[in-house]
Amino acid sequence: IIELRNIRKSFGTVEVIHDVSFSVEKGEVVCIIGPSGSGKSTLLRCINGLETYQGGSIAVHGQRVDTGSSAIRQLRTRVAMVFQRFNLFPHRTALENVAEGPIFVKKEPREEVLKRSRDLLTRVGLGAKIDAYPAQLSGGQQQRVAIARALGMKPDAILFDEPTSALDPELVGEVLAVMRSLADEGMTMVVVTHEMGFAREVADRVLFLDGGVLVEEGPPDEVLSRPQNPRTQDFLRRIL
Ligand code: ATP
Ligand code: MG
Repeated sequence: IIELRNIRKSFGTVEVIHDVSFSVEKGEVVCIIGPSGSGKSTLLRCINGLETYQGGSIAVHGQRVDTGSSAIRQLRTRVAMVFQRFNLFPHRTALENVAEGPIFVKKEPREEVLKRSRDLLTRVGLGAKIDAYPAQLSGGQQQRVAIARALGMKPDAILFDEPTSALDPELVGEVLAVMRSLADEGMTMVVVTHEMGFAREVADRVLFLDGGVLVEEGPPDEVLSRPQNPRTQDFLRRIL
């Protein structure tokens, strides 16, 4: 349902994504790994229209992602994004954070959205924290609110940009567990992560990005255990 063809992206005169192509099928979990500065975040931001790109094309459900078009708002309701820093509205409760988009952007009926939002917060294990403000929640809890908020938009796919890397180590597991359950339920997910255990166990495919180039891709046991490319081998040796 997501297709990138020959994507090139520059900041000023510097090209940071060089001719990247891949697609994501419905229900697939694709993990993107790679060194700092390799373009992982930029690529995700291109997919949901937060960044323009200079070459190639990106389509979601066959519809071209074009930041200049009015369809971009609609696209963002179909492809949700969860960031490294949770980006919650600080002056709104967990429930209000989840309900905001469906009520104000999608104009869905308020009572229906509030009920669904409570259910989603319960599902991510925060049934008791519905009225808490972000500052009253741990990082792991805030990130779970962010995931509930993404789900509240009933997206076709969710993009995760290092969702656990800002968390204290003891809080990483609870967020990964929620992501794993989403994957089990068939959610289409693109996950930029340094959590190799998660990639190995949950991903259908792993993409290794280095210097803006898609160097290697394949099933996790191939890319992570028997990488063919020396750059992938070198990266994995350094982080494992
Ligand atoms: P990290 O693992 O540290 O998050 P990343 O793989 O997500 O890294 P990106 O943030 O996508 O990498 O950055 C890719 C390249 O683009 C880097 O060289 C970065 O300096 C550059 N870059 C990113 N955002 C901008 C920007 N807004 N303006 C100019 N250059 C940028
Ligand atoms: Mg990044």
